[in-house]
Amino acid sequence: MSKEIDKQKYFKLIPKVDVLLEEDKIANLIENFGQNFVVDVIREESDKLRYFINDCKNENKIQERIDSFIYDICNLAKSKTTLSVKKVINGTGTILHTNLGRAPLSQIHLDKANKIMAGYTNLEYNLDKGVRGLRYEHIEGKLKYLTGAESAIVVNNNAAAVMLVLNTLAKGKEAIVSRGELVEIGGSFRIPEVMEASGTKIVDVGTTNKTHLSDYENAISKNTSLLLKVHTSNYKIVGFSETVSLNDMCKLGQNNNIPVFQDLGSGVLVDLSKFGLEKEPTVQDSIKAGVDIISFSGDKLLGGPQAGIIVGKKKYIDIIKKNPITRALRVDKFSIAMLDAVLCEYLNPDTVVEKIPILKNLTRDISKVQSEAKKLLDVLKNSNKKLKFEIIETEAQAGGGSMPLLEIPSYAISISSSTNSVVELEYKLRHSKVPIIARISKDNLLLDLRTIDSKDYNTIKEVIQNI
Ligand SMILES: *Cc1c(COP(=O)(O)O)cnc(C)c1O
Repeated sequence: MSKEIDKQKYFKLIPKVDVLLEEDKIANLIENFGQNFVVDVIREESDKLRYFINDCKNENKIQERIDSFIYDICNLAKSKTTLSVKKVINGTGTILHTNLGRAPLSQIHLDKANKIMAGYTNLEYNLDKGVRGLRYEHIEGKLKYLTGAESAIVVNNNAAAVMLVLNTLAKGKEAIVSRGELVEIGGSFRIPEVMEASGTKIVDVGTTNKTHLSDYENAISKNTSLLLKVHTSNYKIVGFSETVSLNDMCKLGQNNNIPVFQDLGSGVLVDLSKFGLEKEPTVQDSIKAGVDIISFSGDKLLGGPQAGIIVGKKKYIDIIKKNPITRALRVDKFSIAMLDAVLCEYLNPDTVVEKIPILKNLTRDISKVQSEAKKLLDVLKNSNKKLKFEIIETEAQAGGGSMPLLEIPSYAISISSSTNSVVELEYKLRHSKVPIIARISKDNLLLDLRTIDSKDYNTIKEVIQNI
């Protein structure tokens, strides 16, 4: 019982700061990080140890913790002085994983951007004329060429882009939107709330499952400033449902001299149906249909850095560029450079799906995924006697609020153990030096090959050997 443990005796065993400072390992820490920092770490770890002694009912465990005190101090100092953001291996099969940084970037594009970022750049300097330039000019030409739009601008993310368009063109006025498109995106982005925050009055029309052209028509008043179309990228209404086509909406807008703004969300530039995936509306389709302003994310199906891209008619984009809020939503030079590198790949439609990791993972042929599964199985087998590995068929997902119904055929390595439960295994992989995020499905622990890079096979092996 806890009352029988003499806690005071153990409290007295905790080494004092001045004693610790004489220890080699601690002296080493001080050399690297300075005395003030190390003393703070020691105090924090002593407090933790005191709490532990206070709560613990097992004398052996208390003694163990006291014995490992210096080791624990070193570990705490190490964890505080290494980057908190770290590489993880995505074994979930969710290709655009919102919690795992959404679109993974290509090392080649990163190297290109890195080289430029280390020093000064022509970010806002026109080298031809020797005068001030605009950061948007580096990507505007490519975006115009790729989408067919007259003009383009980029801000921090698509949520910011939607906010900016509404605030510029519909503040204090009405925007008409279908009730079937009052979307909530993860991370508390809700169309009605964003509209309100931008100062726009929402006029919602139709019903959840059906909205007709006449619904928009009847709602138009002298206060209408925008017709809003939201791509329901993260859910589908199936069955008895109807939405108004972009063509019809654009005609209605033109006849009434009201611009149409589409929040396209995922923003894909290549026709994914060519690769056996479902048809996801492209930005080019929307421009062809006559949409005046379109916004989409840089780090969803485009496969680039976090960004909110706005393309469309020059007369509207010009007004958006002048909104003072645009300055507050300005993208940094790193995003501009990365986006520039990614957009360059789109100039060659024959190779782009190979060069952009997100497109590569989405479109990779199932036979290739299967042969990768065999390779990883070869690497892993015999790596840990307590574990059993086998290849199973799975279904991967696009994720990131894109293509919600799509199940992408895939293969995974299923791991089972004679000594550990699936939950324990999942925990151990997640807490390894390079965390591996696995998926639990029907009592199996899965590593889905559609989201794993072959460069990581040996790292996975090392982790598995040590659990
Ligand atoms: C994802 C999404 C957003 C938000 O975009 P972020 O780039 O995450 O800010 C807005 N609208 C739609 C329709 C989306 O799918």
